[in-house]
Amino acid sequence: MSNLARLRSALAHNGFSAALISSPTNVFWLTGFTGSFGYVVVTAFDAVFLTDSRYTIQAQEQVSGIEIRSFSTPKTGIQALTEILVDLGVKELGFESVNTTYAQFLTWNEKLDTVALKPLGDVVENLRMVKSAEEIAKIKRSCELTDATFDHLIRLIQPGISEYEIQLEMEFFIRRQGGHMAFEPIVVSGPNSARPHGKATDKLLALGEFVTMDFGAKLDGYCADMTRTVVVGKADERTREVYNQVLKAQLSSIEMMKAGVVAESVDAKAREVFDEIGLAKHFGHGLGHGLGILVHDTGRLGIGSKTVLEPGQVWTVEPGVYLEGWGGCRIEDNVVVTEDGVINLTGSTKELLELPMA
Ligand code: ZN
Ligand code: ZN
Repeated sequence: MSNLARLRSALAHNGFSAALISSPTNVFWLTGFTGSFGYVVVTAFDAVFLTDSRYTIQAQEQVSGIEIRSFSTPKTGIQALTEILVDLGVKELGFESVNTTYAQFLTWNEKLDTVALKPLGDVVENLRMVKSAEEIAKIKRSCELTDATFDHLIRLIQPGISEYEIQLEMEFFIRRQGGHMAFEPIVVSGPNSARPHGKATDKLLALGEFVTMDFGAKLDGYCADMTRTVVVGKADERTREVYNQVLKAQLSSIEMMKAGVVAESVDAKAREVFDEIGLAKHFGHGLGHGLGILVHDTGRLGIGSKTVLEPGQVWTVEPGVYLEGWGGCRIEDNVVVTEDGVINLTGSTKELLELPMA
């Protein structure tokens, strides 16, 4: 079923006769359009895509199966949208309440005076959680480029290279292969690695330290999000113990994932493993998040998350331990839920790497 057909059925199911899809993320999901301004008005039988003259040609290339309208000055977006709503006979219009600013809402509420606005809540976001085979194939390609980047990086890691240089190498490698960065990467070493979302600095790598790299490529609009932690030189006993427990927490949580499992219980599994050696209090964030067009897509694997795992959902699984003044370690893979388990899209090794390799 196309995303448009899935949206129509969800709208009907939730009591909406028409909806305005307006956020770039949801417009891309629905149509493949990548410009900064595009609206889609969807009713049970019609759909009209609206953009402005900057994107007329691009819309003709990217949007198919939906009527395209474009406006230019002196006509305004509100006027063009009103015409569509009148043409389609829309009286009540669902709008993206989770992505609309209050100011935008006030404008629509005042100017779209032929319709009554009704909040869509997270109807579209919930649909986006379950990916089509085509979307999963795109995420997989981004994961493969991310793996290739890691392969490149582990050849460069040695004492004396800076965090910043590693980040630059990451970006050059991904951009050269035609990808984009899914988010600003994290490269942190030694005591800096105790900051889960620290930024790369000019600090030089030193012997015995952890280096945590959290990054992902984005190809065709879909993100990868991987973390690997390696050791510069030789790992001492404590370093090895922490690494192995993070890995055990990750493998144990992935092991229990399948359709029907509740998200919070997967997170609880990782905490249980950390508890074995008193590390649970050093795992301060959730175990994972949904992944797709956005790097932090809808859904959380975390305490209190009642989301039920369904085939086609894509999750990150990323336990970590952070000890202030000492360092931290995180390992993150991207997995697709199936009826009886998961498919791991991340291929990079999780063996403890001591770099440079002999
Ligand atoms: Zn990450
Ligand atoms: Zn992540």
